[in-house]
Amino acid sequence: MIVLQASGEITRETFWTIGPVGEAAFYYLSAVAILVFLYGVYGRFARYARGTEDWFERFDDLSGRVAAAAKIVGSNEKQFDRDLYGGLMHAFIFWGFLTLLIGTTILAIDMDIWTKALGQGSFFVGDFYLAYSLVMDALGLLFVVGVGMALYRRYAVRNHRLRGKHTGFEDDAFVWTLFLLGVGGYAIEALRILGTEFPRFETVSFVGWFGARALQTAGMSPAAAESLYWWGWWSHALLALAFIAWIPYAKPFHMISSFANVVTRDERAGRRLPGVPADLDHVNAESIDDFSWKELLDQDACTKCGRCSAVCPAKASDRPLDPRDVILDLKRYRMDLDAGETEPMPIIADGGESVIATETMESCMACMACMDACPVEIEHLNSFTRLNRQMTDQGDVRSSMQDVFGNLMQKGNTFGEAPRKRADWADELDFDLADAREGPVEYLWYVGDYPSYDERNKKVARSLATLFERAGVSYGILFDDEKYDGNDIRRVGEEFLYLELAGHHVESFEECDFSRIVCTDPHSYNTMKNEYPEIDFGEFADDPVMPFEYDGHWNEDGSVEVLHWTQVIEQLVRAERFGLDGTELDYTVTYHDPCHLGRYNDEYEAPRELIRATGCELYEMPRNRKDSFCCGGGGGGLWIDFEEDPKPSEERLREALEDTAAGDAVEKFVVACPMCMTMYEDGRKTGDFEDEIEIVDVAELLIEALEAKEVRERSTTAPEGDGVGSTAAD
Ligand code: SF4
Ligand code: SF4
Repeated sequence: MIVLQASGEITRETFWTIGPVGEAAFYYLSAVAILVFLYGVYGRFARYARGTEDWFERFDDLSGRVAAAAKIVGSNEKQFDRDLYGGLMHAFIFWGFLTLLIGTTILAIDMDIWTKALGQGSFFVGDFYLAYSLVMDALGLLFVVGVGMALYRRYAVRNHRLRGKHTGFEDDAFVWTLFLLGVGGYAIEALRILGTEFPRFETVSFVGWFGARALQTAGMSPAAAESLYWWGWWSHALLALAFIAWIPYAKPFHMISSFANVVTRDERAGRRLPGVPADLDHVNAESIDDFSWKELLDQDACTKCGRCSAVCPAKASDRPLDPRDVILDLKRYRMDLDAGETEPMPIIADGGESVIATETMESCMACMACMDACPVEIEHLNSFTRLNRQMTDQGDVRSSMQDVFGNLMQKGNTFGEAPRKRADWADELDFDLADAREGPVEYLWYVGDYPSYDERNKKVARSLATLFERAGVSYGILFDDEKYDGNDIRRVGEEFLYLELAGHHVESFEECDFSRIVCTDPHSYNTMKNEYPEIDFGEFADDPVMPFEYDGHWNEDGSVEVLHWTQVIEQLVRAERFGLDGTELDYTVTYHDPCHLGRYNDEYEAPRELIRATGCELYEMPRNRKDSFCCGGGGGGLWIDFEEDPKPSEERLREALEDTAAGDAVEKFVVACPMCMTMYEDGRKTGDFEDEIEIVDVAELLIEALEAKEVRERSTTAPEGDGVGSTAAD
């Protein structure tokens, strides 16, 4: 029965053929579904409330956070990242689903509040009805297309990302339920239009209209459509209500938890790790009760999309780590424990039964690729740090790592070398380095462990010193007061040693008179820039020195300006302190973004500008900038031997030679990190790339360019007849 109201307004009857008993049953079942939904949502959030307090402030500027999250989620920007198909698919599903949800809510408001409770005339008529029907049909179609794309990717393409240890029935059930809801909605619309004999205005419901015509063509009569409508309507309604009730108990809950996770995200997650609470409670991961509410929310927000797994260099090199599995192993254990379906067990252990194996966590390179790829802002490294701290606390670390800790405790450097030898690398320079402890300097140069003690990286340190010298920069170093910066042992879980090292440096900095800190190593740069200013040394320092009080040198928030050397030298190149004209070198290179400089701290251009300033032709590897692929040295990887296939460094060198547009014409692989230098020099040997490519630091490239410039200048100014070149007068 089509309702063309007495007023001539256009609408449709919502409970057509359902009858008053059916309508009452529907309301009853709806109330049950909503109560089950609310109970489930309450249960989830009540569980988060039982998590420990999170280290970071996550509710400041809540309206700003919600607006930013709405933009991230609404734009689907994270889904589009590196995956156009996935972005379109999710955008169609998201916007289609949201529109259908809003449309259904509007209808409920009209029927139950506006009309029944307030006694007003329905607004679900006339132009509103027509516009409503058109929008619902169009966006509903988008929804069905999106779900169809998901089904195609899942079952036809069989995208490897969508299969894993924790994927299965609920993922299949979720996508099929969405599909049946979308298609079922159109099916009952088509039956209604056919059953009401094609009211002209229903052409706005163009998908339903098309379906009705198709059914008519197939031979269905209006009477048959009317009697089938009842069955179709109830099937659709029961599936929709069951779906609503199911949401908090399975994968569909990500529609709520993911948004909450994006709202409460820490924009500096990973680059600054959680500190240790003053009461020393819940520092590690002795039990699942130690995890913070945000870490529990992270687990529930995971959509199992596998984007983190796909970019993880540890997984790619066959180390026993899949970041998705770690998050979901913790979730499954928590849920099983809460449900009484498992016995308590160690969260992490070396051998024996545990939730996570130590070899899993020691495989992590702390490269942050997983966090960058995650569309719902899961902060893997916060949970991983908790696991690592537990592992370190239990003594479950490799002997090579123990040696590093021992060296640091005894000598303050990872090499176990005498502190007095720390500045020996500078002996070969033909100028003296200033001691930043003895007089004011503009730049306090933190040289770092590898440039101080490792033979290959000492050359880089000398190149950089030469650059500072030639640019006429006021700089000085700490000599034997410099120790290891602590960045990577913190990421391995050695928090207290880290605090000691950081405390030492903060005290040393306070003794000096300088304007900025400049670091050779992106790892030092990261921790000094993002972590030192936030550390609460509390009881762990004899003389707590935080927060910094350092007149004239600290930013308003108490932090000091910390720079990576490429940022300083790039400014000096632009100020023409070196006189480079960009033609000095004439070969082809590629550049590897170090994780701690690029993904961690968003510095992609300074090193590239420096490379271009030399005249070299820079070709990008496919994985560049924030998509860069870790060298394998981060997170303690530098000090641990893994069985890998292939080694990340070898894979990266292969990429440089085979996947850049220049192919094997790439002569040099340029780095801006001492750890990368070490890893790639090793990969060059083990991967048999020695005859094919050379590893150089940006600083060395600049020195080579300066030398080429000097040769050229000498040749153009040499006296006539000296056999070197012609004179300027010529
Ligand atoms: S930080 Fe890097 S190595 Fe560790 S899990 Fe994430 S992607 Fe993998
Ligand atoms: S952690 Fe993030 S990227 Fe990884 S599977 Fe879960 S939602 Fe996807």
